[in-house]
Amino acid sequence: MRKPIIAGNWKMNKTHQEAVAFMEEVRGNVPSKNEVETVVCAPALFLKDMHDKAESSDVAVGAQTMHFEEGGAFTGEISPAALQDMGIAYSIIGHSERREMFNETDESVNKKVHAAFRHEITPIMCCGETLEERESSQTEQVVRTQIEKGFAGLSAEQAKQVVVAYEPIWAIGTGKSSSAEDANETCQTIRQVIAELYDEQTAEAVRIQYGGSVKPENINSYLAQEHIDGALVGGASLKTDAFLQLAEAG
Ligand code: PEP
Repeated sequence: MRKPIIAGNWKMNKTHQEAVAFMEEVRGNVPSKNEVETVVCAPALFLKDMHDKAESSDVAVGAQTMHFEEGGAFTGEISPAALQDMGIAYSIIGHSERREMFNETDESVNKKVHAAFRHEITPIMCCGETLEERESSQTEQVVRTQIEKGFAGLSAEQAKQVVVAYEPIWAIGTGKSSSAEDANETCQTIRQVIAELYDEQTAEAVRIQYGGSVKPENINSYLAQEHIDGALVGGASLKTDAFLQLAEAG
């Protein structure tokens, strides 16, 4: 059985005060981490205080990106070593906004996934197609390439720990969510690609989230699908009540 994982992606939202207040409100109210993993991926500036505020509760804090190098002349970047030192155990890697606006490629995503494992950080590795790619029937090929390149060089044990977030780009922040059946079909393809790269057992262990305009009203339809093991949620993760409902659905 794969444990569901619900992760919020706050993007560049909230002030420090709001972020800490959010943790204060949710920390005692999320479901047990034995049943569902709940993560808030927040701006790097807030991570330490949010992590401290979470104390030993069942909600974890994650980064939204990180560099693959240990440190050095990378102005403005976030080192995986610094995240580990602060006790941050998750990072989104290769979100489509990072790929589109900050030149991330499948190669840099792969380096970041390796760096995450060097620092005991669980990578939430994003993949997904554009509207144009979907309309020209390229979805399968696009996600296949992203998975093959993103997983390159990982051992089967590492592969099992990657959380894949399948996020059709046309569904992110648009209010246009993919149908649960279509999302499941692509998540099944992702699992199939992992089985081809490794074996069935490894593919069955990997958790695959759906992301793209998920909210409390539609999350159950996704989680009911065989190949969907959670959600990566942007807009709806910003409000405590919605976030708690999403976590509860997991
Ligand atoms: C995201 O940011 O990864 C996302 C899926 O956003 P939204 O839920 O707002 O579509």
